[in-house]
Amino acid sequence: MVENWRQACLRSLPAVDVAVNLYKRAYPESSYPHALLVQAVQEIVDVLRRQILAAGSNEELSGLSLTPEEVALRLGSWLEQLELPSLRRVINATGTVLHTNLGRAPLAAAAEAAMQAAAGYCNLELELQEGLRGSRHHHVEKLLMSLSGAEAACVVNNNAAAVLLCLNTLAAGKKVIVSRGELVEIGGSFRIPEVMSAGGASLKEVGTTNKTHLSDYRAAIDTETGLLLKVHTSNFKVVGFTSSVDVAALVLLGLEFGVPVMEDLGSGLLLDLSEFGLEPEPLVRERVADGVDLLTLSGDKLLGGPQAGIILGKRVFVERLKQNQLMRALRPDKVTLAALEATLRIYLAGQPLREIPTLAMLSMPAEILKRRADNLAAELRRRGQSFLIVNTCEDFSFVGGGSMPLAKLPTTMVVLRPRHGSFSDWVQKLRTGQPALVGRVQGDRLLLDLRTVAEAEEEEVIRCLT
Ligand SMILES: *Cc1c(COP(=O)(O)O)cnc(C)c1O
Repeated sequence: MVENWRQACLRSLPAVDVAVNLYKRAYPESSYPHALLVQAVQEIVDVLRRQILAAGSNEELSGLSLTPEEVALRLGSWLEQLELPSLRRVINATGTVLHTNLGRAPLAAAAEAAMQAAAGYCNLELELQEGLRGSRHHHVEKLLMSLSGAEAACVVNNNAAAVLLCLNTLAAGKKVIVSRGELVEIGGSFRIPEVMSAGGASLKEVGTTNKTHLSDYRAAIDTETGLLLKVHTSNFKVVGFTSSVDVAALVLLGLEFGVPVMEDLGSGLLLDLSEFGLEPEPLVRERVADGVDLLTLSGDKLLGGPQAGIILGKRVFVERLKQNQLMRALRPDKVTLAALEATLRIYLAGQPLREIPTLAMLSMPAEILKRRADNLAAELRRRGQSFLIVNTCEDFSFVGGGSMPLAKLPTTMVVLRPRHGSFSDWVQKLRTGQPALVGRVQGDRLLLDLRTVAEAEEEEVIRCLT
């Protein structure tokens, strides 16, 4: 039984076609199809109807009975929302350099330009010299080989795909020997045991969580062994009473038994960053020199390029990967290849620490960050005096992206608190602004770390906040 007051309010809801026609008369140049307008008004009216049905008393109905004009107005804002792209630019003031939720590595200017150039037709699979069919791998193969010292290289969509392809090619129907200390889970449900079964291989665990010895691998090798796999524990550290077998020793063991050796390196660093206070990470070139048969790494972690899975290694194995039917499903598109090629060219010829944003951010000295934070704070105090409480404090930036979990890079944060109003509403307003501004929330304070904000974005940050 619907109460009379509720009944009256339900009856007052405008007819859909009346609101649609009002909108059309107000915006005769609007090109939205009639069916979309009808659907939108239906949605708006449905929401109102549900609110009316949920109201506990007559008082709660205020604002729920709208005139057709008011519904037409809501239709206008509904359509404005529709026009906003879902994927938008975000100013990352969190201080996490490889922020997975914010797209990991921001690309170099040269990579952006290369993506633009490849957007139309390009020579993705055409040898321009000979006019013959070419290979898409060709565009980055030589660069990857000269940067890593590997005999051969190919690229797929991400490192998870790279691991899947390698396991499937080398070890389908066979056993893969992995240390128990390396059965890692990377965020977003990439787990070594699961990827293994997706690739058609079966897992043979050896050793314990904290200690695995070469003898453990040796004892596990039999006629069913297809691969010895080492996984870099990129997002956690086992400390204390530990030991693991290094790749060079595994390579010798693999040679002795004729079993290939692969390493999933995860991040994959092309240059040594330890002078910037970052924990030592294996360098790609060193691992290749150790003689590993296949090495996989991400394009958008420490390398600082687009999302991609880079596979380096011995020519015989890389050729087999390219022949696998799965390659057709995992191959990267032209835009990715363009960005990756441009990023690799910076390593080869340019100044990676200056031109690759992730490396520039990771190597940015604390004094510069302090100066930038002090300047921003001063500017915000000047312009936002009446509604913002502005401070600075020393804190740390993080590498993120499941890389170097222990690294803490000293930085200076700009600490903000609105003088009045709801803190969470204010943070949401910044997050939904254009551009979106995302910082680090700590209690009722918003912390901004300029390490991950380009200098050219600072003025925009001020505009978002004042
Ligand atoms: C990050 C990571 C992956 C997954 O790489 P994506 O490029 O995100 O697919 C796999 N293995 C290791 C060790 C990693 O660190």
